[in-house]
Amino acid sequence: MSHWSEHTAMVVEDSGVQRAHLVDLLRSMEFGAVLEACDGNDALRVLALHGNKPVGLVLTDIDMPGMDGIELIRCLAERRLTDNLIVTSARDPRLLEIVESMASDDARLHLLGTLIKPVRLPDLEQLMLRAGRPAVAAVPLKPSQNLQQIEQALHAGQFLPYFQPKVAMDSGAVKGAEVLARWRHPEHGMIPPDQFIPVLEGTPLMAPFTLAMVEQALGQSEAWRRAMPGFTLSLNLSADNLADSDFLNRLAEVVSAHGLPPQAIIWEVTETMVMSNLSQSLGNLARLRLKGFGLAMDDYGIGFSSMQQLSRCPFTELKVDRVFVDGAALRPNRRVILESAIEMGHKLNITLVAEGVESVADWQLLRTLGCDLAQGYLVARPMPGADMLNWIKTNRMRLKALAGALPAE
Ligand code: C2E
Ligand code: CA
Ligand code: CA
Repeated sequence: MSHWSEHTAMVVEDSGVQRAHLVDLLRSMEFGAVLEACDGNDALRVLALHGNKPVGLVLTDIDMPGMDGIELIRCLAERRLTDNLIVTSARDPRLLEIVESMASDDARLHLLGTLIKPVRLPDLEQLMLRAGRPAVAAVPLKPSQNLQQIEQALHAGQFLPYFQPKVAMDSGAVKGAEVLARWRHPEHGMIPPDQFIPVLEGTPLMAPFTLAMVEQALGQSEAWRRAMPGFTLSLNLSADNLADSDFLNRLAEVVSAHGLPPQAIIWEVTETMVMSNLSQSLGNLARLRLKGFGLAMDDYGIGFSSMQQLSRCPFTELKVDRVFVDGAALRPNRRVILESAIEMGHKLNITLVAEGVESVADWQLLRTLGCDLAQGYLVARPMPGADMLNWIKTNRMRLKALAGALPAE
């Protein structure tokens, strides 16, 4: 085990007692250093302080307040922050099954295995035997993790909105677009939001950043919004944004200053964000809804909220996470989750949106299941605002055919 002595491990666990136990186990395996975090957001913060270099092992719980383990694993994979992963859970073994099925689809997730809590040393050692040779060369440090650089970029106007269309599955009509932030870096090119949103979260820059995105998105979309009555713009809010009622009032003023009715805007908040702080979120969500804005529950399915919890929130739209959408046509497990989400959404009178639709087979399955809207690479990748009108013109027939409103040939 001595080859771990040059490597760092991390324990992500909300229970202090369990965390201390796991840290002891890893120390006894002679890891060079053991980092600790109490939930997914905390883990990303600690890893950022560590320079966002990949660590040798992350041992994470699934069920945590704040950012849960499933969301964390996705971030770890996307940003390649760990060489090996072990997931623990005290709950339903089906949670561990979902993690295993996520890992079998994603080559970037080096899942060594799952363990039921409390974890015992021999089981942990057994799993560690499967660990690949830890990567020694660290991924070069991206500039994006540095808050100071982000602040300069914000002042320099380097953050801009991209737009990804949402289309009606029964007609192929474009119903709206989600606004997705990009950082146009003068040297490093286009940097995706996963590289800077987590750094902004919890800092005073999150509010001005969101405001800058909203202002630009409203301005850039004016031409095509006017051309399509009923077109909606979906804008992502962070946990900080949702907790700040003064800031939300400010956003409402910005929208009305652009001469837009609140119905033209859908605020997106993630399921985990809402459920981790239900009582406070509920008040602010209700206020936005009362003003007439649309509200979307984003990344639905990864936070395991129940229908009862969902029915208490005034959402107008449910966005099923792409983990459950991508490849659903081939996997009965995902199909079951989609079916129940769509059924539940419709019972609650909520518009169902499937995220990450990449294949025609998945599109057809979702259509059969009665899903309302689709967003994903099959429809379009996120694009600059200036490309949108032309995209709509050149893709109208293709989308109609996809919806089955015209014969495919
Ligand atoms: P999200 O809100 O879940 O946005 C959907 C993400 O899925 C986008 O990634 C989009 O490009 C990607 N996507 C869409 N269709 C497909 C597909 O068919 N296949 C695959 N593999 N991916 C697809 P993106 O743009 O990298 O954004 C990542 C996340 O960053 C967003 O996830 C959102 O949580 C956050 N984000 C982006 N812009 C903002 C913003 O302005 N404010 C805040 N607070 N968060 C933002
Ligand atoms: Ca979103
Ligand atoms: Ca999403």
